[in-house]
Amino acid sequence: MTSSSQPSCGGKKPAAASCGSAATPPPAATGCCGSSKPALGPPASGPDPAACPLTWFGRMIPHCLEYAEKAKSEGRPIVGIMCEYTPRELIMAAGAVPICLCGGSDKTISAAEEILPTNLCPLIKSTYGYMVQGSNPFLEMADLLVAETTCDGKKKMYELMAERKPMYVLELPQKEDGSAALERWALEMQGLKTELETRFGVAISNEKIERAIVEMNRERRLRREIASLMKSDGPPLTGRQLLDLKSSISCIAADIEQYEKALAMFAPAKPATGAEKRVRVLMTGVPLPHGAERVLDLVEGHGGLVVCMENCTGLKPIVDDVAEGTDDPLRALAEKYLRLPCSVMTPNSARRDLLRRLADEYRPQCVVDLVWQACLTYDVESHYIRRLAQEELGIPYLRIETDYSPSDSARIAVRVEALFETVRQRGAS
Ligand code: SF4
Ligand code: SF4
Repeated sequence: MTSSSQPSCGGKKPAAASCGSAATPPPAATGCCGSSKPALGPPASGPDPAACPLTWFGRMIPHCLEYAEKAKSEGRPIVGIMCEYTPRELIMAAGAVPICLCGGSDKTISAAEEILPTNLCPLIKSTYGYMVQGSNPFLEMADLLVAETTCDGKKKMYELMAERKPMYVLELPQKEDGSAALERWALEMQGLKTELETRFGVAISNEKIERAIVEMNRERRLRREIASLMKSDGPPLTGRQLLDLKSSISCIAADIEQYEKALAMFAPAKPATGAEKRVRVLMTGVPLPHGAERVLDLVEGHGGLVVCMENCTGLKPIVDDVAEGTDDPLRALAEKYLRLPCSVMTPNSARRDLLRRLADEYRPQCVVDLVWQACLTYDVESHYIRRLAQEELGIPYLRIETDYSPSDSARIAVRVEALFETVRQRGAS
């Protein structure tokens, strides 16, 4: 494994963002903010780069580090999370700070492979490699890790991580239907609440949970509205720019301000130059943690525009909210999080329903399905996604299986170009 982008916070190598985070000053990212790569975004006469939300989120990791260090010094516990099934609201209601720890760097993989099998998903190896190296400051400062029984690789990694850090694992029901699953999951929410209360010596009232729900809903809504700008015929952002507009720590007040600013700044008054000529892509499959955006960059560097990303670093976790104002906010959390259509669910028809809906709203011309090597569940599901794209949506489909190494970038680029050629030929006929 060689380079992928390196997170940038001062001092120790920061890691990583995560399940729901990204942000890097990446090659294709920062259009109005001084990027060297072609990007869309506001016209040249647009906003001051220093005031641009893309510049702000380009320093997401240092901002998060500063925020987490301050919180820790004020006595707030730090809780590491590694999946979008984790109810951040409950951790926030305990007065703690939930931080995504999923690794997107290939630099930590060889350290992980001293213990983990080589034939394992790079996301798992990268995350664990940070622990082996002690190089993720967020992981190092964590008082507790919260995880779920999702895929087998993650579950076994959690066992190893538990040797060094306190770990609480929620048992995720994996059948998507049935009230028994919801009852079971609601009990797991209760178990996490008790763990947080006991460990951190706090009482988590319904009022505190409700406040956290409202905060998280506000952030989800803002991010959803920004993503909706991509529905336009001339989207004002690239997919990479949109991916970068988020944080490893949810609901930081300064980030919320930046989301509002981004919404006002990028709401397209007129189509951005060049956007309308690119092939509109819907990207699905595995998440792209911070540092692992290579395939997205390849797609956009070869004539594509990712107008919609369905995965866990895209719309999947934010397409809907937690119900507000209910008598039982803990149950409202259980309902929201159990709806998440991850490939660990069986069956996972909700993912296909979501893709149908997104295809209708974002009007992609093709589907790119990303599978990290050795991710069996997304790999098997690619069969359904191909069928959905080709037979139901009537658009070309490309499955890309890769890891964090750039060694196959040229081969991926050729396949992406061939896909776009097919799209153009269909448009011409
Ligand atoms: S893809 Fe599944 S396991 Fe991975 S972060 Fe999303 S919900 Fe969790
Ligand atoms: S990408 Fe697949 S194998 Fe990797 S952590 Fe997610 S579900 Fe597990």
